[in-house]
Amino acid sequence: MPSVEIIAVGSELLTPERVDTNSLWLTAQLNELGFEVTAKSIIGDQRQRLTQAFRQALESADIVLATGGLGPTEDDVTRDCAAEALGVSLEHWDSLWDDLKAKFARMGRPIPENNRRQASVLQGGESLPNPNGTAPGQWFGRQHGALILLPGPPRELKPMFTNHVVERLRPLAGDNVLSRRTLKVYGLGESAMDQMIAHLYPQHPEVTVITLFTPLDLEIHLLADGPTAEQGLAKIAPLEQAVRDVLDLYVYGHSTQSLAEVVGGLLLQSGQTVVTAESLTGGLVAQRMTEVAGSSRYFLGAYVTYSEGMKQTVLGVRPELLQQYSAVSPQVAEAMALGARQRSGADYALSLTGYAGPDGGTDKDPVGTVYLGLAGPQGVESKRVKFPGDRELVRSRSAQASLDWLRRALL
Ligand code: ATP
Ligand code: MG
Repeated sequence: MPSVEIIAVGSELLTPERVDTNSLWLTAQLNELGFEVTAKSIIGDQRQRLTQAFRQALESADIVLATGGLGPTEDDVTRDCAAEALGVSLEHWDSLWDDLKAKFARMGRPIPENNRRQASVLQGGESLPNPNGTAPGQWFGRQHGALILLPGPPRELKPMFTNHVVERLRPLAGDNVLSRRTLKVYGLGESAMDQMIAHLYPQHPEVTVITLFTPLDLEIHLLADGPTAEQGLAKIAPLEQAVRDVLDLYVYGHSTQSLAEVVGGLLLQSGQTVVTAESLTGGLVAQRMTEVAGSSRYFLGAYVTYSEGMKQTVLGVRPELLQQYSAVSPQVAEAMALGARQRSGADYALSLTGYAGPDGGTDKDPVGTVYLGLAGPQGVESKRVKFPGDRELVRSRSAQASLDWLRRALL
């Protein structure tokens, strides 16, 4: 399988404000075509450094893809550096210059002499049209590979890649395509999960395993190549099954499924409905539920009851409970869930009350302590969870834990 290196060019990408998203998007596209990205780098608009980066990449990879630095200004040096690293000159193309002049004429603007740079192409290379901007891209074929220059703005780069690069790359991809299965996991830490499944990997050496830890859950990516997608997936299947057997209910979904989507699917299947009663999350569970298209078929609504008064008037939580146990307690979580279920007529009610921080909390229940409630046809239950992290994380993790509880209850 030919290897690919990506170089993202632009000093702004080395500041804390800008992120190189192009290489992520390109990597996804390249993987789908059957290429593996073996290295990527971000290089500022600096001639020497960029030429050096091109040289190194051309030495170690078959395909080198650069994004950015194709503009008309003095600091857009990608063309020059690529030419120098390849040892070829840049040729002025009259046809490109005419195109540029026509583009500016259509905008009713005089063309700056600077833009001439954008009409120069690597000797022996091809120009790739850019209907969404001024900078044309370039394709320079090499043995078993290519050097490709693409513009930086994502809205210019993406269509150029899709419409002009894919067809040129496909013949280089060899006969193999890369297949991927993603498993979504909730309720385990990264190392806990690793301990459970790492011993399975060596039994399936043809599958590459990547685990990703997000603030809310874990993803397991299983990758394998083969002459067809089916054959790649067939290599993955035994390891996927082994992982599912070990992790069991911790695996909640696959691909890009969200927890809310999975819960929604289970509710639909059983023809049941849910409502939420939220304090510290302020409607976050409801937001996640309603992000899913078609959720009106099973999601009735949310009671966002932040104050003690609202917990009493809207959900019917008795004042004695609040006085005796405080608003953050298993008793109040259960009363919130029961009240929400009764008043809405839903089959299930989720409730959440807790200390999101940074202030508040008690010795017994410090910041990060949350009580979840679940009322359903079988009665009401509550549980105490404790999350690390700042306010945003505590709220976000609480919402996820609540959804997962309902998922397990529905299984
Ligand atoms: P232009 O003709 O617009 O100057 P260019 O090819 O010179 O095109 P850059 O100047 O390098 O492109 O980048 C233009 C803008 O595109 C940047 O300000 C940034 O917003 C976006 N951009 C550039 N590189 C990336 C990247 N790797 N990921 C995401 N956005 C990027
Ligand atoms: Mg530029």
